[in-house]
Amino acid sequence: MSLKRLIQTIEENKLPVKIAEIKRAFKFADEAHQGQKRLSGEPYFIHPSAVATILAEMKADQPTIIAGLLHDVVEDTDAALSELERKFGKEVANLVDGVTKLRGVHYSGDENYVENFRRMFLAMAKDLRVILVKFADQLHNLQTLEYLPKEKQDRFVKETLEIYAPIANRLRLGKIKGRLEDWAFKYANPQEFRWLNNLSMKLYAQREQALQHIKEDVRKMLEDENIEVISIHDRAKYLYSLYKKMLKYDLDITRIHDLVALRIIVPTIADCYSVLGLIHRKYRPLKGRIKDYIAQPKPNGYQSLHTTVFAEDGEVVEFQIRTEDMHLEAEYGLAAHWHFKEKGSFKVRKKLAWVNELGKMARQMEDERSLETLKIDIFQNRIFVFTPEGDVIELPEDATPVDFAYQIHTDIGNKCSRTKINDNPAGLDTKLKNGDVVEIIIDKKRKGPSLDWIKFVKTGNARSKIKHFNKKKLTEWEKTLSK
Ligand code: MN
Repeated sequence: MSLKRLIQTIEENKLPVKIAEIKRAFKFADEAHQGQKRLSGEPYFIHPSAVATILAEMKADQPTIIAGLLHDVVEDTDAALSELERKFGKEVANLVDGVTKLRGVHYSGDENYVENFRRMFLAMAKDLRVILVKFADQLHNLQTLEYLPKEKQDRFVKETLEIYAPIANRLRLGKIKGRLEDWAFKYANPQEFRWLNNLSMKLYAQREQALQHIKEDVRKMLEDENIEVISIHDRAKYLYSLYKKMLKYDLDITRIHDLVALRIIVPTIADCYSVLGLIHRKYRPLKGRIKDYIAQPKPNGYQSLHTTVFAEDGEVVEFQIRTEDMHLEAEYGLAAHWHFKEKGSFKVRKKLAWVNELGKMARQMEDERSLETLKIDIFQNRIFVFTPEGDVIELPEDATPVDFAYQIHTDIGNKCSRTKINDNPAGLDTKLKNGDVVEIIIDKKRKGPSLDWIKFVKTGNARSKIKHFNKKKLTEWEKTLSK
């Protein structure tokens, strides 16, 4: 039954996933959890299979969906990580291991808040997909929260709103952020949730016909103008984000203009601007409501053109115009691109985008050091820098490109001759900063590291390797020192 749903979701989303592999993992996890029950009294395996289905909805790739099925196996059953690796490969085993290590991440007051963030961040830095499984896990736990004691419910709600949703937002996982927040909202403010849910459903129903009409008109107009349309659809605002907005407008829903928005997806950026012009020719735009997030993306990278217009019968409608790429990124964040991995250049570009995102996150956490809740001393002595391929290297503060080179590989360290930081040539003794992208240029003919490097390296790793290589010279050097 639930296997059927999972497979159906995979097929609906046209994911390039081997169904036989999914079936094999499903069977394995089902058997491993045999006899276990959830607090609801249902068989435990309902949970991992629901998590895998959520991951398929998020357009995750095959190892991530399989990791979703297996994510509680190591902690809760007799299956060992080594067994998972043997049966499902290292990639899946690493993902499950990452999720298992995040188990202790719970909201429990200010002190652990930052430490939690840090652990999530580290897990993400290793493999962003770990956090995706964690999001899906959290979402399904929220959906079945009614069976938990009140105290645990509160904790789940808090950690969702204060840890998970902000991270989802930073990673541009718009859909998962909206879903997490709405489920948390239901428990955080049950009365407001019910009130707003009823109110918005009533309003949607009232407007449905008018919107249908406008959609058809716009479709016809674009057809006449020979603009190819990939899709026109309406989207309802997530309840929690609607609620937050309404708090700014005295809870008066009539002042919210983007309760329903019409989305137009077109092939190119030029098309986006053409469509905007045509819509303004047809309908009068509201003053000050035209937003060009293509030229000036939102801080999290969101791109689209927004405009609010008076349509027929005084109907006020927001249009959101974007390309398919922008759309996928707004909904699924970086997950939208994992299936295109094999296209080399695309991979690097996209990977760097999330690398920048992580760097920004780390820097922001530093900026907010003054905030009482963000005691980020933990970050003070660690930095995260990146290889040009997007791998994250954790180093102590004030570490240099030489430390970085040794962290990657002893050979790279021994033969490193020059470096580029964020594409600019720099000295080997430059102090690296959070988020830097570091490129090491090696000299294959180089015999070994310079003993002088000892003066500026920060890691024990680099120091011991430089010493080791220069052992002979070093004893002589030490002799001269002791003279
Ligand atoms: Mn779980």
